[in-house]
Amino acid sequence: MFYEGNIYRPPSEASSLILQVTVGCKHNQCTFCSMYKGKPYRQKNREEIAEIIEEGVALYPLAKRIFLADGDALTLDTELLVDLLKELYARFPRLERVGIYGGPLDILAKSSAELTLLRQYGLQIVYLGIESGSAVVLKQIKKGVTPQEMITAGQRIVASGILLSCTVISGLGGTEYTKEHALETAKVVNAIDPQYFGTLTLILEPEAPLRRQVAAGTFKLLNPWETLEELKLMIQHLDVHNCVYRSNHASNYLTLKAHLPEEKDALLATLTNVLEQNRDELLRPETWRGL
Ligand code: SF4
Repeated sequence: MFYEGNIYRPPSEASSLILQVTVGCKHNQCTFCSMYKGKPYRQKNREEIAEIIEEGVALYPLAKRIFLADGDALTLDTELLVDLLKELYARFPRLERVGIYGGPLDILAKSSAELTLLRQYGLQIVYLGIESGSAVVLKQIKKGVTPQEMITAGQRIVASGILLSCTVISGLGGTEYTKEHALETAKVVNAIDPQYFGTLTLILEPEAPLRRQVAAGTFKLLNPWETLEELKLMIQHLDVHNCVYRSNHASNYLTLKAHLPEEKDALLATLTNVLEQNRDELLRPETWRGL
């Protein structure tokens, strides 16, 4: 497939056919994110999308999963998305699932009825980056929404019947807001109560604006042990009802997985054990992080 620039997709879409129906990220202001900084945002038109589908059908006619990229393809008009979903299920006979990134602003721009319609036409999972539940951290990173708006966006997806996969970023509040980040993030995740929840760990590519704050000394990164303490505090305050939790991204110091709430105690015991041992060899090395 031909793609414009680098393509990003959630780990669970690793075997999916990726169709780039938008380019870049409409918001594109988050200070920790460099994914689309050099990529002006645009929506592809119907003719371009038809060409992409033809190319996909020719290359992967038996695709079972399709992921719609780039950063927030949910920005497309609902009518266009419905037509796209109809076309995909008609042209890929084995298709079982279509997924998409949805920024909180994109979700809030759609009504509950529109989201339900998208679910009815086969949009089955939305990936939402919560990043933090703290008002001050969300403001600092320029996410563009308040905690309550993030909750409303997440709850709207859950209520529509579309599966919701949320991620937050450990260390995003730095040393100054680590406790607030942990506690307030748990509150937002609890209020949304998603089916899937994952933690990433803050890493800063050279193009990420937050990196300049680190260099200037105005943002102090957590060390690996502080990051795990923060993660433990957040998990202690999680109260979700039927959620698959994963910490399996390459950025994470530890690989963790659990079904919550049943395995919460086991998850905390693992974290406590590693924290008590305090041995660097238990953690994924951070030399590759470029910091
Ligand atoms: S984190 Fe998401 S919403 Fe923010 S700039 Fe990056 S892609 Fe866009």
